[in-house]
Order: sequence, then structure tokens, then C-alpha cells
Amino acid sequence: MQRNVNGDHAPGYDTMTEVHRDDFIIHHAHSRILAISMAVSNCYEASKPHVLLNLDQPSLFWDNCHFCVDTDYVELDTPLDMHPHWKWLSNHPHKNSVFLKDGTPKQQYLCHIADEHICYLLGQALRLQSSSAAKSMIQTILSQIDAQSLTGKALLAKAEAASKRNATQHRVMTARYIHDPYIAKETKERAHGICQLCGAPAPFKDTNGQPYLECHHVIWLSRGGKDTLENTTALCPNCHRRMHVLDDPKDIKILQRT
Ligand SMILES: [Zn+2]
Ligand SMILES: [Zn+2]
Repeated sequence: MQRNVNGDHAPGYDTMTEVHRDDFIIHHAHSRILAISMAVSNCYEASKPHVLLNLDQPSLFWDNCHFCVDTDYVELDTPLDMHPHWKWLSNHPHKNSVFLKDGTPKQQYLCHIADEHICYLLGQALRLQSSSAAKSMIQTILSQIDAQSLTGKALLAKAEAASKRNATQHRVMTARYIHDPYIAKETKERAHGICQLCGAPAPFKDTNGQPYLECHHVIWLSRGGKDTLENTTALCPNCHRRMHVLDDPKDIKILQRT
């Protein structure tokens, strides 16, 4: 449990420890959404960096908080003012979300946000953006949330549409290759919890109760492979590491047969 300078428990710092790789973080200040980032690491404990130790100004935030998350960070070119949306937010209350009953955000370091809230606000923010980095980050989050809610035929239809689109185009965001969320989820669903390389069941279930497998591009995107249903496979974490470490042509052949 983290405490602030007055020795009080600072709500929100603990939430930091729940941040995992590929989670999205929405940055706001004075009721304006300013930036969005994607975690590229899990939360880890870190001590204050030397650059900050050497500054004359005490770095208030770092004194209170010893957790760190690495992120890909995209600033919105036009921040979203949330004031006009307080009424909508207060009419759509969610227990485990950042907004209070009156629609104003909690004054916490980091809080959860409900899917309905984030979809609404990002939909508003998307219309204001002109930079492709901001638009693509917002669209990725929206389709990620949408993909989570879909199964069966609805999911397959979206995955096939994305697969067709991606057969002729490369999706790259801030130097990081991104899986289309519909394709990733469909790839895992059609594996029925079985690793497509070693044939073993997924080693554990994720927080949604789904067998944990990872989506892998048989021909890596960095080598010109496409983000399509034909080029993706579902692997257990062990085999996924193996594919990236050994890069064994025999393994690749097995995956291409499946
Ligand atoms: Zn495996
Ligand atoms: Zn991979």
C-alpha cells in the first residue's frame, strides 16, 4: 500500500500494480482527456531514477510511488473536454469506473474505467482528431473492447473482414506491430484451448475464464507476413517464446499445416 506525503493512504496507487502489458491507460487532467497509452510491460517496482534524484526540485510523484509501467504514449492532437459529457456520464453510472454519480472524474492517481464510458468518450474524441497516430490508437482500443464482447458468427465475420483488409495492408503503430483484436480472438477461439504447436491444453485460464493462449504470426509481420486468419495461430506461452527464440523452420512447417 502506497502512502502520500502526509502519510495518508493514496487511493489509486494500488491500481497501478494491476496494470498488465497491452492494457490501455487514458490520461486526463482538469477534466480533459489529453493522451492515451498502451502498456508495453506489466507493472514493476522501480526506484527513483538518477536523473530525478539530481534535480533540485523534489519530484513529488516519484516520492510517493515506487511502481513503474513502460508505455507507448500517444497525445491527442485535440484534447477532449469532458465537461459537456458530465450529464451523459451521470446518466450512465457504473460502480467500478472513474466517474462519480455527478459525472465528474474521481481525483485518483489511477482508476478503472467502464467499457461503456470509454467507448462513449473515445467515440467523441475520435471525431476531433486529425493525426493518424491518435486515430489509430483510439480505433484499436474501440475494436479491442468490441472484440471482447463478440463470440461465434459475429466474431468470425469481423475477423474475416479484418483478415481481407489486412491481406493488402500493414498495420504498424508507433513502431510496434499490432494484432487486429478480432483476428487475435478468432484465432484463439478456433484453437479451442489447445496450443497449435505442442498440442497441450492452455496452461491456465485468464481472468475472463478463457484458456490462456497467445496469438502468433507464423510469418512475422516484420518479415512481411500479414495479420490475417491464414497467418495467425494460437500458442501456449512456452511455444510462443520458443518460436521467437529458436525460429525453427520445422516448427514453422507444423504451424503452416494447422
Ligand atoms: Zn505449446
Ligand atoms: Zn509471436
